[in-house]
Amino acid sequence: MKQLTILGATGSIGQSTLDVVGRHPDRYAVYALTANTRVEPMADICRRHNPVYAVMGDQQSAERLEQLLKGSATRVIAGEQALVQVAGDDDVDIVIAAIVGSVGLLPTLAAVRTGKRVLLANKESLVMAGALFMDEVARHAVELIPIDSEHNAIFQCLPNGFSERLSQQGVTKIVLTGSGGPFRELPLDEFDSITPARAIAHPNWDMGPKISVDSATMMNKGLELIEACWLFDIGEEDVEIVLHKQSIIHSMVAYNDGSVLAQMGKPDMRTPIANALAWPERISSGVEPLDLVKVSQLDFEVADEIRFPCLALARESLRQGGTSPAILNAANEVAVASFLNHRIKFSDIPTLIENTLQHIDAHSADSLDIILADDRRARAYLQHQLERMSA
Ligand code: NAD
Ligand code: MG
Repeated sequence: MKQLTILGATGSIGQSTLDVVGRHPDRYAVYALTANTRVEPMADICRRHNPVYAVMGDQQSAERLEQLLKGSATRVIAGEQALVQVAGDDDVDIVIAAIVGSVGLLPTLAAVRTGKRVLLANKESLVMAGALFMDEVARHAVELIPIDSEHNAIFQCLPNGFSERLSQQGVTKIVLTGSGGPFRELPLDEFDSITPARAIAHPNWDMGPKISVDSATMMNKGLELIEACWLFDIGEEDVEIVLHKQSIIHSMVAYNDGSVLAQMGKPDMRTPIANALAWPERISSGVEPLDLVKVSQLDFEVADEIRFPCLALARESLRQGGTSPAILNAANEVAVASFLNHRIKFSDIPTLIENTLQHIDAHSADSLDIILADDRRARAYLQHQLERMSA
C-alpha cells in the first residue's frame, strides 16, 4: 500500500489524480491533501478519501475546513511550512506536485530532498530552479516521473528510462507536440479583443485557469521546452515544437536509426497520472480507449513564433540561462493573473514579459536564495509597471 501526498488536491490535476487513486483502493492510500482557499471542495474530497492531514493555504480557511470536517480523524493544518511537512513526512511514499505556480517549488523540493517518488505536474519548479532541482534529484536518487502529458509521453518513449544520457540511447531529437490552443487560427488583429473566458476555453484539454491561458499564449509550450531540457538533460536545439491540433500524439522521440516513437491516447490527464503512479507497472485509469478510425487524421504544423511570441521568449531565456527562466516565469505569472483580472489585454502578456526580461538582470542560479530574489524582483518590477499603466 503506497501512501500519497497530493499537493494541490482541489485543482484539475489533483482531481484527476484522486479519480485514478479511487479506482485502486488496494494500492493507494491518501496520507495528505492540500488546497489553498477553496474550503468546500476540499471538505468534499477529504470526506471521500480520509487523509491523515488536510493542509489549507491560510489559517482562516483551515478553521472553516475544521468545522466542516467535525468528527472526522483528519488533522487540519495551514501554511507553507505545513506543505513542506506533508511533502517530506516519513510515512509518505509518493508526492504528486500539482500546485500551480512558483508556490509549488519549496514543497516539491522537500519531497525530493526526502527521497519520495515525485510525480511532477508543477512545471514551474523546474523552470525556476532546474539545475538545483535536478542536482537534488540525483543526490537523493529520486524517481522523478513527469505527469505533464508531453514529458510523460517522452518518458514512455525512452525504453531505457532517462537515467542514461539520451545521446547514449541513440536519441537525436525530442518532438514536443502542442495543440496551439484556442487561437491557432484566430486572425492576429483580433488578439487584442480576446477575453479571459475565451482564453481559458481550451479546445482539447480541461485545465486550471493559469495553464489554460499559458496554452493560449503558448507560453505553456515554452515552459515545457525548459522543463524538457532539465528533465531529459538535452539542449534546446534538440527539441522541436510541432503543432498537432488533435492532441492525440502527446510527444515523440527520434532515434539515430530513423525510428520515431510516439505515445498516443485521448487527451485526458488520467493516462499520464496512472502511468506515473504505477510505473513500471500499468494500471487502469478510467480513460476511454482511443478509436483511431474515429480520429481519422493526425495533422502537424510549424509553431509560428510571430503568432506566439512567448515561444521565442522562453527559448531566449533558456539560452541566457541562470535565473533568466525564473524571471520569465515570475513575469508570466503576474501577467497572466492581471489578464485574468481584466487589467491587461491578452496581447500585453508577451510584451510585459519581454519588458521584464530586458529590465531585470539575470544571475547565475547558484542557490535558492538567488533564484527566489530574482523571482521577487521580477514580480515587483512588473507590478510597478502595471500600476503605472493603470494610473
Ligand atoms: P488548478 O488551478 O486547477 O489547481 C491548482 C491547485 O494549486 C489547487 O489545488 C490550488 O488550491 C493550489 N494552489 C494554488 N495556489 C496556491 C497557494 N498559494 N498555496 C497553496 N496551494 C495553492 O491548476 P492545474 O491545472 O491542476 O495545474 C496544476 C499544475 O499542473 C500547474 O503547474 C500546471 O502547469 C500543471 N499541469 C496541469 C495540467 C492540466 O491538465 N491541468 C497538465 C499539465 C501540467
Ligand atoms: Mg503539457
